[in-house]
Amino acid sequence: MNNPQSSATDSNAQTQESELRPSPLSVAEARRAEAVGRHIVLKGWVRTRRDSKAGFSFIEINDGSCFGNVQVIADSHLPNYESEIKRLSPGCSIAVTGSVKASPGKGQATEVQAAEVAVLGTADVESYPLQKKGHSLEFLRTIAHLRPRTNTFGAVARVRNCVCNSIHQYFQERGFIYVHTPVITASDCEGAGAMFQVTTLLDKQRSPLPKAPEAENATPAPGLDFSLDFFNRPAYLTVSGQLEAETFACGLGKTYTFGPTFRAENSNTPRHLAEFWMIEPEVAFCDLYGDMELAEGLLKRIFSDVLEKCAEDMQFFNERIDKTVIEILQHVIGSQFLRVSYTEAVDILNSSGQKFEFPTAWGNDLQAEHERYLTEKHFGQPVILYDYPRTIKPFYMRVNDDGRTVRAMDVLVPKVGEIIGGSQREERLDVLEARMREQGLDPAGYWWYVDLRRYGTVPHAGFGLGLERVIQFITGMANIRDVIPFPRTPGNAEF
Ligand code: ATP
Ligand code: MN
Repeated sequence: MNNPQSSATDSNAQTQESELRPSPLSVAEARRAEAVGRHIVLKGWVRTRRDSKAGFSFIEINDGSCFGNVQVIADSHLPNYESEIKRLSPGCSIAVTGSVKASPGKGQATEVQAAEVAVLGTADVESYPLQKKGHSLEFLRTIAHLRPRTNTFGAVARVRNCVCNSIHQYFQERGFIYVHTPVITASDCEGAGAMFQVTTLLDKQRSPLPKAPEAENATPAPGLDFSLDFFNRPAYLTVSGQLEAETFACGLGKTYTFGPTFRAENSNTPRHLAEFWMIEPEVAFCDLYGDMELAEGLLKRIFSDVLEKCAEDMQFFNERIDKTVIEILQHVIGSQFLRVSYTEAVDILNSSGQKFEFPTAWGNDLQAEHERYLTEKHFGQPVILYDYPRTIKPFYMRVNDDGRTVRAMDVLVPKVGEIIGGSQREERLDVLEARMREQGLDPAGYWWYVDLRRYGTVPHAGFGLGLERVIQFITGMANIRDVIPFPRTPGNAEF
């Protein structure tokens, strides 16, 4: 394009050239029937190689763009056939230039006839851990850096991506404002322990702190003085963005957060992580019933999007992980979530004739065994429990007129149990302060939160949806460690 006068002929030449130049396609694109006849470049990792006696090899490659592979046919006339192609093994990365043909084989619309196969990276047959198929999920956790190349983790990652996209769309279409609440916080949302502390006091190199000159000679030792710490106070990784989200809801109306949350509980269960992702809508002028509607609508939207957009991945989960997942999702999308009060739930448990490890008296918190009995055995579908005893719920939940219960709700689903926990918030200043004191908290320590009730208070409600729990429910993956890229659990943070 140096000479403007020749631009017409240049662009002509360019069109011709681009028709000849192979277009880069993903495996997902190359597998579609529309790709037949196109001259393409395809890059990915070898899943398998089979050599035919008739003088060519079949190479299955995958690039993560979809569940299925593309079959590449590499002819023995290719110059590097003996030296490289016939040595390709699982895990090798290659770039194939060739043309897409309709496939005579079953189960695939297309295949690629290679004109050129460039080997980008080899993978030693002896040491590559994914040489063979069928590794256990436990083993794959020990190679978390390579498991994205497996069928299962590819499918989980694509479903997880679809769920996140769906969540944003659901809220954005309804005018919700996405708010980023802090990861480091000085307030404990649940009014209980189980938080990771954030401090630089232990790092003598980085003390003294700029704001606290008296720290100059201080040796932070057993009795740590947090007034000398980075934030001049104890600070933690957040367990929930709710309190901060409430400040935005009480100004912007409809908001949601979507970020990482941390719990230092030593719970070694298949449903708990020390670091997980939570979606927390917070809505002004909304009561508990509106909150339930929002939760039910969100879950149904996520489920139908996944069934539609990740059909091939869901087929895999249904065949190989849990034969009921698709049917359950379809059923859930088509039915109304039940709404059952805590008191009714306790009555059901008490008259169930079922033996539970933990007692089911009114006033006790429901354990996973109770939640699962209700949603799996008794109702056989998702159920929203509401109006829990005030003594077992945090200070910010609105006290009902009966004085004994609060406007809390939990959404329970079969197999996973609690997937959402939410409430209508206490908007009355005097009641909120009394509730804080009742729980041994000083309202002064939460002055900014209390201020929301002092100035223009409004009824409002919200909930927290655990991203990993919803992915477990969708995919049927039994262990939460297998639905997050790099699970953090007690004693486990290597990758
Ligand atoms: P559970 O009783 O199951 O331990 P919770 O009542 O402590 O959960 P909430 O504080 O209500 O949980 O958090 C809201 C949501 O976040 C839960 O409904 C769940 O989906 C998810 N969640 C809570 N804790 C964890 C965790 N440790 N790992 C993964 N997800 C979690
Ligand atoms: Mn909860």
